[in-house]
Amino acid sequence: MVKTSKSANITHRPAEKPAVTKVTAKEQAPEAAPANVPVIDLPRSIGVRQLADMLQVDSILVIKQLMRNGIMANINQVIDFETAANIVAGLGFKARLKPMKEQQMATAAEEGKKAKRRYGKDADNLVPRPPVITVMGHVDHGKTKLLDAIRKTNVVDSEAGGITQHIGAYQVTIDGQKITFLDTPGHEAFTAMRAHGANITDITVLVVAADDGVMPQTLEAINHARAAGVPIVVAINKIDKDNANPNQVKQQLAEAGLVIEEWGGNTVCLEVSAKEKKGIKELLESLLLVAEIEELKANPSLPAAGVVIEAEMDKTMGPLATLLIQSGTMKEGDTVVVGDTWGRVRAMFNDVAKRIKKAEPSMPVEVLGLNNVPQVGDTLTTVVDEHHAQALLARNRAAREKETVRAKAINLNTLYDQINAGKVKELNVILKTDVQGSIEPIRHQLEQLGTEEVKVRVIHSATGSVTDSDVMLATASNGLIIGFNVTAQEGAKRVAVTSGVDIRFYNIIYTMADDVAKALKGMLEPVYVEVIDGRAEIRAVFSAGKGLKAAGVIVNEGKITRNAKVRVRRGKEIIADSSVSSLKRFKDDAKEVLTGFECGVGVQDFHEFRVGDILEFYRMEKQQ
Ligand code: GDP
Repeated sequence: MVKTSKSANITHRPAEKPAVTKVTAKEQAPEAAPANVPVIDLPRSIGVRQLADMLQVDSILVIKQLMRNGIMANINQVIDFETAANIVAGLGFKARLKPMKEQQMATAAEEGKKAKRRYGKDADNLVPRPPVITVMGHVDHGKTKLLDAIRKTNVVDSEAGGITQHIGAYQVTIDGQKITFLDTPGHEAFTAMRAHGANITDITVLVVAADDGVMPQTLEAINHARAAGVPIVVAINKIDKDNANPNQVKQQLAEAGLVIEEWGGNTVCLEVSAKEKKGIKELLESLLLVAEIEELKANPSLPAAGVVIEAEMDKTMGPLATLLIQSGTMKEGDTVVVGDTWGRVRAMFNDVAKRIKKAEPSMPVEVLGLNNVPQVGDTLTTVVDEHHAQALLARNRAAREKETVRAKAINLNTLYDQINAGKVKELNVILKTDVQGSIEPIRHQLEQLGTEEVKVRVIHSATGSVTDSDVMLATASNGLIIGFNVTAQEGAKRVAVTSGVDIRFYNIIYTMADDVAKALKGMLEPVYVEVIDGRAEIRAVFSAGKGLKAAGVIVNEGKITRNAKVRVRRGKEIIADSSVSSLKRFKDDAKEVLTGFECGVGVQDFHEFRVGDILEFYRMEKQQ
């Protein structure tokens, strides 16, 4: 999939070139690479030129290889890992996904500018594109109202006189320039997108109510935006209120590390009233200024690349997807691959439901014609025809199967190996504690544990249990979560398991510090987790001689094995916890017995079986 976006360029720029053997066009291995092929670490997205530089081949070669795969890209375009891995394989290398480094994110703005300066010279076709804005802040501080006020004051009214915005983003025009607003406010949606690999926001507007000040979710929003390397513009809202105290808000922001320009810092800050529509124009003008500094550019003459921001199945029209175009121009009739599906663009509608023939960079557009409903965060790639669409889908599927989530996630047990493999230079920690007073001492302890190879950085800290949004931030920032005297919400636990995020709970600072220190040095004792393999119900009890007993059971679930540990459950009680001493099918010893079969089981040092007891077979597995 091809995407040209500033954020992709910035955050994923490889730090240095790996030492790889030069390959000439002649030596190219077409599909399969021999066993000793050079391995190359690639970021999640990479520019065509950078990829060619890394491989030390001519960029034309990479472009040709992309074309062979049905992707039309130019030298300045950014391609994702799956696509790059394919190209790399075609040129005789093996690609490995390099985890995104927080360090790179921190220097993102700087790197991005360098990249843009460099590309700017050669890329005549790069033109400024509208900034894409997400509004964040504490609940009830006026995010929705502000989005409303912006839309009402500035959307170019349609002839019908009304504004019928019907998709999850809209554009406003100010001083002849456009700005795109994503209509799902809040850092949760923002980080969920990032966790999916899509960085679509250029600037964050942080809404802080002047009568309420900086609150927990304000701080959370700041940390989420910072972790993504996205600039923050502050809108102090509700200044119409009698008890508004913007100065206090500014003070609190400074304490949170956001020093406003007026006080000598570099955070742009505006005072607004969403209710009375005051300060909105100034806010929009400031956003344009920040956008100018960010030098947001895209090439509209290329085939389109974009990201899904909303998708649904419409009863009459079929799959509908709202996409944000990130680069290039999408036209009616284009063949596109979007996530796991593809289609031909039958019709397109803009944010005021007007049918349009083409959609340019930073434009939100509703698309009709996909064969299935894609997922939010999926990327769009334009291809030549159906044949290439199918081929790209197949490649994406294969790449996904290979790349397991666990391989990416940071984990205390495998941290040392990841450090040694050069994959981790910074350990990002999300810290949740029961009381505010614990945060600073623990943060201090953690950050002091950093070594020469790996720094420990607390990217977000707050009181309260571990939430979905913490897990998403960990996924998006390749970090782990430490809970001190807190638990995790059920939903968060589930997401953590599926996304492979490591959550560690402690109630003694010393134990936590000791674990992290050992993990950094590779001395952490492995953690074992229980895995239940099967359950069986006792149907009969037999004598096994000399007062010994064996249980005749039927396996209800999973399988049971000769080497398993076993618990005997009677109702809610556990009356024995031991190991299997014998396992027989008819008179023969068996290694394992599967669901639905009967067998005889002996339990070490236990003979008080009763019909109806449940035997639970389990083993302890080392946590990866
Ligand atoms: P959100 O949770 O951040 O999206 O907050 P909302 O936009 O839903 O606003 C929360 C409440 O604050 C609503 O009752 C709004 O009418 C009110 N509100 C929002 N902006 C302003 C403002 O500028 N002035 C005043 N007085 N009230 C506001």
